Amino acid sequence: MYDLIIIGGGPAGLTAGIYAQRSRLKTLLIEKQMLGGQIAVSDVIENYPGFPSISGAGLMEKFEEHAKGLGLEVKYADVYNIAVEGSTKVLKTSEGELRAKAIIVATGAKPRRLGAPGEKEYTGKGVSYCATCDGPFFRKLPVMVVGGGDTAVKEAVYLSKLASKVYLVHRREKFRAEKMHQEKAESAANIEIIKSHVLKEIKGEGGLVKKAVIQNVNTSEIREIDAEGVFIFVGINPTTDFVDVEKDEGGFIKTNQKMETSVPGIFAAGDCRTTPLLQVATAVGDGAIAAYMAEAYIENGELVTECP
Ligand code: NAP
Repeated sequence: MYDLIIIGGGPAGLTAGIYAQRSRLKTLLIEKQMLGGQIAVSDVIENYPGFPSISGAGLMEKFEEHAKGLGLEVKYADVYNIAVEGSTKVLKTSEGELRAKAIIVATGAKPRRLGAPGEKEYTGKGVSYCATCDGPFFRKLPVMVVGGGDTAVKEAVYLSKLASKVYLVHRREKFRAEKMHQEKAESAANIEIIKSHVLKEIKGEGGLVKKAVIQNVNTSEIREIDAEGVFIFVGINPTTDFVDVEKDEGGFIKTNQKMETSVPGIFAAGDCRTTPLLQVATAVGDGAIAAYMAEAYIENGELVTECP
């Protein structure tokens, strides 16, 4: 029986682990794949205070060292579901049943699929959702990036250092990405920004991507572009199917400002919850609050600590 089980080893989960260890809670962190979360595949982070420029993997190694240095126990397992038995939470996992007084769900989110013809067929054969992982396969080759958020614009800039040319295709006239990312994309000599266009189809030859078909949303004009790689960054889906708590229409877990979910003793932190900003800095704050509130819940059976 653990006091606290944290599910997910990204910035929110590792921060919760650091706070829980310092509170001397008997804590277990469960991670499905590798510690670090989505941010670990980010080429460079330039907005985490104290680190003007650091790789995602480098920053997450520091989080991991910090948490493990405090003795945080980590188990690699897949959590299938959480049942509530009185005040005990029972987790069914690929490594057996685990029990805890409180749970913090910090499972983050995964890249969303666009559903374009050819996308599924060519995933791993030119279609990618991770520039850091697959970018090096496209050295001196033309690629397309689809999307207009921070991920798309930032990864287009990263890819422009490897690829011969990057076509950045966005469905609207205005990007939602941070201005600094936009400025970098606009000033990169080999990025062609194509606005008000959508990806209609991905075509291949010999099992590999060769062309991307895009359409102007205003004129319906079709354009076929030579691209050996198509990187799709059109948002994220939260990893929350396994937990039965109240969620928003996108599947993100609803919490209050104490990170409490609709089920007492189950907290959520980071990208898996409804939040106006998905950043390492905000995930870290969520993780700290969730661990603090979980401790209050474990000690008192209910929350007695009011948020200031
Ligand atoms: P996002 O901000 O939700 O942006 C998704 C983009 O994909 C939007 O531009 C959206 O277009 C477009 N899109 C969505 N569905 C589409 C469709 N069916 N067809 C064509 N385009 C479509 O997602 P994200 O960029 O992955 O970022 C996720 C979160 O992580 C955000 O909160 C972001 O700020 C954060 N993040 C921050 C950084 C950073 O360096 N600060 C880096 C990466 C991510 P519309 O704009 O028209 O809706």
